[in-house]
Amino acid sequence: MTLIVKKYGGSSLSSVAKLRNIAKTTHDLHHNSNQKIVVVLSAMGSSTDKLVDLSIRAVKDANKRDYDMLLSSGEQVSIAMLSMLINDLGGRAIPLTGWQAGIKTDSSHANARIKSINTKRIKAELRKNNIVVIAGFQGITSEDNISTLGRGGSDTTAVALAAALKADECHIFTDVDGVYTTDPRICSKARRLDLLTYEEMLEMSGLGSKVLQLRSVEFASKYNVPIRVLDAHKNNALGTLITKEEKKMEGAIISGIAFTKDEAEIMIKGVKDQPGVAAKILGPIGTAKIEIDMIVQNVGSNGLADFTFTVSRNTLKNAIKVIENNKKSMGYSSFDTKNNIVKVSLIGVGMRSHAGIASKMFKCLAKNKVNIRMISTSEIKISVVIDQKNLEIAVQALHNEFKLDKK
Ligand code: ASP
Ligand code: MG
Repeated sequence: MTLIVKKYGGSSLSSVAKLRNIAKTTHDLHHNSNQKIVVVLSAMGSSTDKLVDLSIRAVKDANKRDYDMLLSSGEQVSIAMLSMLINDLGGRAIPLTGWQAGIKTDSSHANARIKSINTKRIKAELRKNNIVVIAGFQGITSEDNISTLGRGGSDTTAVALAAALKADECHIFTDVDGVYTTDPRICSKARRLDLLTYEEMLEMSGLGSKVLQLRSVEFASKYNVPIRVLDAHKNNALGTLITKEEKKMEGAIISGIAFTKDEAEIMIKGVKDQPGVAAKILGPIGTAKIEIDMIVQNVGSNGLADFTFTVSRNTLKNAIKVIENNKKSMGYSSFDTKNNIVKVSLIGVGMRSHAGIASKMFKCLAKNKVNIRMISTSEIKISVVIDQKNLEIAVQALHNEFKLDKK
């Protein structure tokens, strides 16, 4: 007998009509197969945003415990609604909040981590042949307070439950039909991927494909839970299966192209070209909790060098302040910043066993007159920073060069 965890996101739950459809398909599946089904739900539509707004209107800085009590209420609405609808069809559904489902978290309210799941109640309900409908995004702390897992946290609830229950697959239903080779709005030839590894997905989502909460993919990778991303409005589609690397995946060298627009570059000019300089510059930046991504140091003349790095655009103002305040200790002559840059990354586990990918990428960009400002590489990724105006041409050219439109 198979056990499937099915998770639906807020946009697939934005009306009673949509909930009714989900109730019908879930009930039919349960009725016509001998699958055991656990459903995890987000809050309906944008109701979590509305709850956030409500708390902001009440107080400036809400107590985190109270805030979680408020935010978790959205999911309680959706699980009650879906259970009602399934039961009205003559089906068998039982709604459970996070704590009823045994989901224990740490005490970092608003961004709690799941510590353990006591599956006793869920298993008892499954044995009674019930469809178990569980509130995503929430749990309970060791002090018996309700906690939430951070925005988008229902994905993590679903994967964690799939791991704890040893489910055969975890299906994440959303408003796209899978993970694409790149953003179809930038490249019309973007293609849905049948298969992707956890590592690739982490790079894809870390770099801007916002299909799944990152933590859910880390969780899935750790406990080896196969995730299938599916379109909530299509029946019997295949979606994209995200799983551990297997032999049969060796065919694809490159799986996708990700990009992020929220980059900013800082060039610190005329620093001494001697040991310790990088630490002197990056130390205060790190202390200010500003994350640095790429770093380049150009060896200049007269013992002076330029030191360039990128930060995310929303931290640029802060970084400038830190650099101005630390002029003496950093020992530079001037600095410059640049906002209109983007990072484009080629991702694929096949890079490990294939040489020449980087040079092919750089040649392709050169042929298309795209100037590369910075480069960084890892085992399964090559990233370049380029001017924002070249984003589309770069993504389209690379998509063609690596024939990502063909299986
Ligand atoms: N409802 C929560 C949110 O909007 C959790 C989720 O959707 O996964 O962030
Ligand atoms: Mg989501």
